[in-house]
Amino acid sequence: MKFKQLLLINLSLIVFGLNAQNLRKDSAYAVQGYEMVEQQMGFYHDSELESYVNKLGQRLVSQLDPALFEYEFYLVDSPEPNAFAIPGGKVFITRGLLALPKTEDELAGVIGHEIIHSNNRHGVKAQTGNVFGKIIAIPGVIIGGIFRGPIGSAIASPFLIGNELLQADYSRGNEKEADKLGTEIAAKAGYDPMELAYILKRLSLESQILTGEAEQKSYFASHPYTPKRVEAITKHSQTYKQADTPPIADKNEFLKPFDDLMIGFNPKYGYIEKGKLYNPEYKYSFKLGEEWQGMGSPAGYGIVHSKQEAMITLMVEKDSLSYSDYSSEFEQLMLEQTKMRPSDKSSVDWDGKKGKMLEYTAEQNGTKLHFQLYTIQYDSEHLFKVATLCSTPYVEDIEGVIKSAKWVKKGQFPSTKVPTLKIVEANKGVTLQELIDAKGDEEFVKFVLMLNENSLSHQYKGGELVKLVVNKSYNQN
Ligand SMILES: [Zn+2]
Repeated sequence: MKFKQLLLINLSLIVFGLNAQNLRKDSAYAVQGYEMVEQQMGFYHDSELESYVNKLGQRLVSQLDPALFEYEFYLVDSPEPNAFAIPGGKVFITRGLLALPKTEDELAGVIGHEIIHSNNRHGVKAQTGNVFGKIIAIPGVIIGGIFRGPIGSAIASPFLIGNELLQADYSRGNEKEADKLGTEIAAKAGYDPMELAYILKRLSLESQILTGEAEQKSYFASHPYTPKRVEAITKHSQTYKQADTPPIADKNEFLKPFDDLMIGFNPKYGYIEKGKLYNPEYKYSFKLGEEWQGMGSPAGYGIVHSKQEAMITLMVEKDSLSYSDYSSEFEQLMLEQTKMRPSDKSSVDWDGKKGKMLEYTAEQNGTKLHFQLYTIQYDSEHLFKVATLCSTPYVEDIEGVIKSAKWVKKGQFPSTKVPTLKIVEANKGVTLQELIDAKGDEEFVKFVLMLNENSLSHQYKGGELVKLVVNKSYNQN
């Protein structure tokens, strides 16, 4: 899984500020936040898992004194491990995080922590500053520097994917409180409060496996995994009395609803297969070659060249403007906001659909940068907006990709593979390595070791449920 660069792009940005302290405002934030998650990240639907997480969440909420909101729990369609809450009682858990818990107690620890953030109305510190410079850390291509305003939003939108919420930056004091009171409600609901520390450790390891770097990713931007934090959790845990309530799921059956959980990016937002990008919803394809990597969300699809000096973002959006009016407005906006005029413009025809191209060039620190915006009339209500950005050596690569635009008919999408969780029951005496050989996929061995916290030679007693990862075929037609 080559998540590294993609995830690095998806770095910190916070515009979600909460200063005013009244509950009505919290509810307004809840509505806004919910819509933002829906549009930019999407929800993951699995009725068994959704109902289980909701039951667990409500059980924790019933320990609040008082619960300020009606709480709702949602599964988010993102492979990045994360959990976040917004004021007003909405709690979100990503697919990436759901791959991790070994017990209900661990999941209770994470959800409890987020519930406290919401219920205690922890204010999120607003972080402003050079937003685009932070997101797109392409060497020599710091968008915030020269390409501000309209260009910045055109190129960066698909990469913003819920960052405002994901990067919730609470104060240290708030974090301590969420750990302390979150584990307390977990204990009162019958869970071992200490287990929050166990899943945090796995979260930290998962981040390292996915990004190749220690704790680079979103969850840890706000929730650092530190010995101090574990120490504090250990200390509080000893003072709580764990209620004698049995868990919702039988201890030995806990992993069952997690069978078939998708771990990678969801191909429904676009996928790359044999050097070609396919988008099943909007039926487009582009020829890329091997050097490109991509990531998709309901907001759009973004691809980055492995050298990180070229990127393309693709979005189909509802728009009342025609392609030529949109293009003219963009040009006008650029002139007003940045005094820049296009270095080139032309009419284009993409496999039968008409559009316009605007090009801007600029120089920064001796590097010449090229920005293009293609606006294509997708249908009578939608525009296909494709923005490209690169340094001079990549102009031809970008041109090659753009020229290959094709519309794909139903039934012509190749199938693809998605890393997916598979829960299997171990027979007596079998080792983890043998299970992987028989039913898993060797490619994900590091991940599987992290998930199970057993060595490859670990021998099972028989009857245990084990997490494996397989490349599952996904057919879009
Ligand atoms: Zn937190």
